[in-house]
Amino acid sequence: PMFYEFKPEETVKAAHGSTLRCKTWEAEAALRMLENNLDPAVSLVYDELIVYGGAGRAARNWKEYQVIVRTLKELEPDETMLVQSGKAVGVLKTWAHAPRVLIANSNLVPAWSTQEYFDELDRMGLMMYGQMTAGSWIYIATQGILQGTYETFAAMADQHFGGTLCGTITVTAGLGGMSGAQPLAVTMNDGVCLVIEPIDERVKQKMREGYIDEQARDLAHALELCEQAKAEGKPWAVGLTGNAATVLPQLLERGFQADIVTDQTSAHDLMDYLPEGDITEVLALREANPEEFKRQALASIVRHVEAILEMQQRGTIAVDYGNNLRGQAEKGGLTVRDEAGHFLYPGFVPAYIRPLFCEGKGPFRWAALSGDPQDILRIDRALLETFPENKLLARWIEKAQAKVPFIGLPARVCWLGYGEREKFGLVINDLVARGEVSAPIVIGRDHLDCGSVASPNRETEGMKDGSDAVADWPLLNALANCASGADWVSLHNGGGVGIGNSTHSGMVIVATGTPEKAERLKRVLTTDPGLGIFRHADAGYELAQDVARERGAKIPGLSH
Ligand code: NAD
Repeated sequence: PMFYEFKPEETVKAAHGSTLRCKTWEAEAALRMLENNLDPAVSLVYDELIVYGGAGRAARNWKEYQVIVRTLKELEPDETMLVQSGKAVGVLKTWAHAPRVLIANSNLVPAWSTQEYFDELDRMGLMMYGQMTAGSWIYIATQGILQGTYETFAAMADQHFGGTLCGTITVTAGLGGMSGAQPLAVTMNDGVCLVIEPIDERVKQKMREGYIDEQARDLAHALELCEQAKAEGKPWAVGLTGNAATVLPQLLERGFQADIVTDQTSAHDLMDYLPEGDITEVLALREANPEEFKRQALASIVRHVEAILEMQQRGTIAVDYGNNLRGQAEKGGLTVRDEAGHFLYPGFVPAYIRPLFCEGKGPFRWAALSGDPQDILRIDRALLETFPENKLLARWIEKAQAKVPFIGLPARVCWLGYGEREKFGLVINDLVARGEVSAPIVIGRDHLDCGSVASPNRETEGMKDGSDAVADWPLLNALANCASGADWVSLHNGGGVGIGNSTHSGMVIVATGTPEKAERLKRVLTTDPGLGIFRHADAGYELAQDVARERGAKIPGLSH
């Protein structure tokens, strides 16, 4: 009930246009991005303030949401609001160039940092799960992950299939906030995708949004559609209402051979992974008997991973998509590692993304506070003019314009590296200054980035020097972004892979078009990916060391 008290009468949606309700554009930007996260078109479960990724919330409850909104509206240009797990707990007199908002979500003292203990505090109303961009107000609906997923599948196509997924079938599961990007990312790489999701309405929603092309009647129909598209070399995404733990073993029974198998169900939290069985009963069980639900979820995860391992044995390329499915299966008693301790199938970061991290690349993004899609299209043009040699980027922008609907505040995401982000931040600031876009632009990123996260089962899995669990880096990242003049900075626990399994930070800076802001953009957008160069150079990645030398990132002790 605590969620519903003080729920605003009018449905929350980001304000558009150039009229300020706050005293600065920076506070206004934080307010609009918070509203945008909650917009029912963007968020997963509006009533409970859940934005995406299982139970990732934007504010602790509706009452605290109202307090945050009021505080942002009253915030002076030299004040900073502190947010503790989705609740405004203090306002400090700082200075004009300091962050307007500092956020800490879901953090626990390390020895207490378990899902069970967190859940208890959550129930007591003392904490909130912030996921990554949910609690730090820079979620931009499924597009945010689409680019990263597109990059990952492009890297898989390069490594295994001669540069294209044309004529291949990828099997995966989950059509939620992030997971829903998978089928479109596959078809953008010209492949065929079969995606399994137990909640029928989610399949239908992704059809409406154009992320999948067809909903199959049943498994036989799904396979017929996939085989046909594969034979024709046609990019096609098929949604099937069902449970991955049930359907994957059925695929094996039928002798069906997929080219790639992965999964992006909310397996990081056992309350969000749906066990096998009739969906109405499964959802009722979650309400009635959470402990039994979690037991069944774990058993289903084990069956799910067993099937993935068997598919891998039969020649399918298996990759973990960052939801800790393997870790949970291990908890459930399944052997998921070889004798040397390496996972039997790799995570997507060590397999495909780490070389990008070594260049400071990661999911850079921006949103138009005006609400006007034309602003994003204007910036798209500037992006292509700024990086004319980048073909992957050009292909992404072309496909994104054709296929990615704007949901909530119009936004764009693309992966840019060290040096590139700073350069492009200044281009955006210039467009704002010249009035070529109609309001300031918010610039931020996912916490899944090169220098902002420690997550041994995902972003920092299998680091060269064994430093997977070292969490100093995201802490330094947040401190450095504050020191450099970001507008809001956040530190979270448990994003992606669940409480206790990751520490990560976020940063946002608003391009308002002023010369002073240009200076801050230059600093922040160098500092932030710079941490990624430091982190990977320190771990012994030669690519990162070379990038540091070539692009002038100062690393004490690195020979020049
Ligand atoms: P979500 O909760 O919005 O969606 C997950 C979907 O999986 C839901 O629609 C749910 O019904 C479905 N699902 C649950 N159990 C299932 C089962 N047994 N079979 C088939 N489908 C099932 O979460 P999300 O935002 O899509 O994130 C999914 C996972 O991916 C999370 O664990 C998240 O932490 C992780 N994640 C990965 C990345 C990445 O870059 N790889 C980024 C963000 C999040």
